[in-house]
Amino acid sequence: MAKRRQLILLLGDQLDRQSPVLAGPINQNDLVLMIEARGESRRVPSHKARTVLFLSAMRHHAAWLREQGYNVVYVDINDRDASDFETAIANAIQRYQPSQVRMVEAGEFGVQQRIQEACETSGIELQVLTDPHFLCSREDFARWRGHRKSLVMETFYRHMRKRLGILMDGDAPSGGKWNFDAKNRTSFGRQGPGLVPPPPAFTPDAITRQAISDVEHHFPDNPGELANFAWPVSREQALVMLEDFISHRLPAFGPFQDAMWTEQVLLYHSGLSAALNLKLLHPMEVIEKAEAAYRAGDAPLASVEGFIRQVLGWREFVRGIYWSEMPAYLQNNALNADQPLPAFYWTGDTDMHCLRSVIKQTLQTGYAHHIQRLMVTGLFALLLGVRPEEIHAWYLGIYIDAVEWVEAPNTLGMSQYADGGLLASKPYAASGRYIQRMSNYCKDCRFKPDRRVGEQACPFTLLYWDFLIRHETRFARHPRAAMQWRMLHKLEQTERMDITFQAKALRETWR
Ligand code: FAD
Ligand code: SF4
Repeated sequence: MAKRRQLILLLGDQLDRQSPVLAGPINQNDLVLMIEARGESRRVPSHKARTVLFLSAMRHHAAWLREQGYNVVYVDINDRDASDFETAIANAIQRYQPSQVRMVEAGEFGVQQRIQEACETSGIELQVLTDPHFLCSREDFARWRGHRKSLVMETFYRHMRKRLGILMDGDAPSGGKWNFDAKNRTSFGRQGPGLVPPPPAFTPDAITRQAISDVEHHFPDNPGELANFAWPVSREQALVMLEDFISHRLPAFGPFQDAMWTEQVLLYHSGLSAALNLKLLHPMEVIEKAEAAYRAGDAPLASVEGFIRQVLGWREFVRGIYWSEMPAYLQNNALNADQPLPAFYWTGDTDMHCLRSVIKQTLQTGYAHHIQRLMVTGLFALLLGVRPEEIHAWYLGIYIDAVEWVEAPNTLGMSQYADGGLLASKPYAASGRYIQRMSNYCKDCRFKPDRRVGEQACPFTLLYWDFLIRHETRFARHPRAAMQWRMLHKLEQTERMDITFQAKALRETWR
């Protein structure tokens, strides 16, 4: 007797060819369901490049599945069923009458819930498999977390290195140290970055061109530009991007990972986050290639360790936090921030050169590297006191690699301290002097990074001191932050009042 039909649901960020839902011989009776839901690009205003990347990567994956012999039911963004997920799933269940829906766990809490509800409403069993893409399962993370009160990424990272034997020589870390930050994180100096090896650019093929035209048709008013879209959209292209990074940019990744420079987009970063998050690449293959470059003498340990720390440490750590804290995590607002997001976040039209550069680059490419996100756009929102849900929606929509499990802890935890210090032990608060040290943005700015009051006061510096004043009670005796707050004692009372007054006036301009 023929086996009853299963509906295999593949989400837009589940494009791994080794997915467990595809394991075993292909059953001609089963259907693979892929849905391009229009509602997903409207839930938060999604950058056009982010949507194109999702659509193009999904369509390439569907073509690969068909080549392998799978029966694919593809709900195209132009279909009537594509209004939202729930409708598309319910309609597919009704049409194909499967005995069961199978899927790998979704990356986003809300998406998993909506799928669960759609299956329940249709009276159909839903089987959810653990996602082997990640190196630390949700259960493993919960075990590691145990009853720990404070969660330190460094402790988790060392645990993962030992557990998986990465960059280890026997029981000891390679090079005798876990962390090479002292050698990393320098700036380019006055001379600038010089000639940086350009990353590969993937000219849009027919599938990507169609995705571009669909996005322009359905979401003409969404933010972002598509003229220079060149991101990898298939596993083959992602592998080219990976090889290129390992050969040309990884060696200098460590020293320059925090540096910024006008009109330099990727610098020595990998640009692999979207390919990883869509699962065109597995994190272990990325880590193994980086480690092999060190073992072959092609890249220094400090750079390789710095890079592996991001993929094995931060990426897995934030996912663990996301799943152990959801759904309450999105409601956090520990610093009671209540300012609306300034409108220039959607245009880049501001006098502040650093913000203008980073936001315009973001709108052109859908990309900004970690320090641009954390110490320019994120820092400004933190100092200004932007409502966490508004800055969260901005980050979730505006970057090509944005998916909630990684975006939310980075935004609400690391960048905005909205979770009260669960993810980052103290706020990433700094003045314009930090941006001056790490970039050339201040050189062409009408503000002066060392002025905290007056007409030429750098808004970052003014708001930094105002932040210290506003949150003095909370942090003055904080074990890790108190040092920073001690600086406040050096201010005269009149200057404190000037700062508060000017900061209030500045805040009013964006109310
Ligand atoms: P590289 O600098 O080359 O790093 C290598 C890889 O390490 C990345 O591809 C990424 O997979 C991983 N990684 C690095 N830093 C982090 C981190 N803090 N958390 C998790 N993984 C990390 N990353 C996303 O993938 N999606 C997001 O939506 C996202 N939102 C962010 C929002 C804010 C406010 C901040 C501060 C950071 C965010 N990050 C996000 C983390 C990080 O900025 C990006 O992963 C990185 O900039 C992507 O560029 P890259 O691939 O060139 O990274
Ligand atoms: Fe940004 Fe201030 Fe520097 Fe201007 S002076 S670029 S606003 S940090």
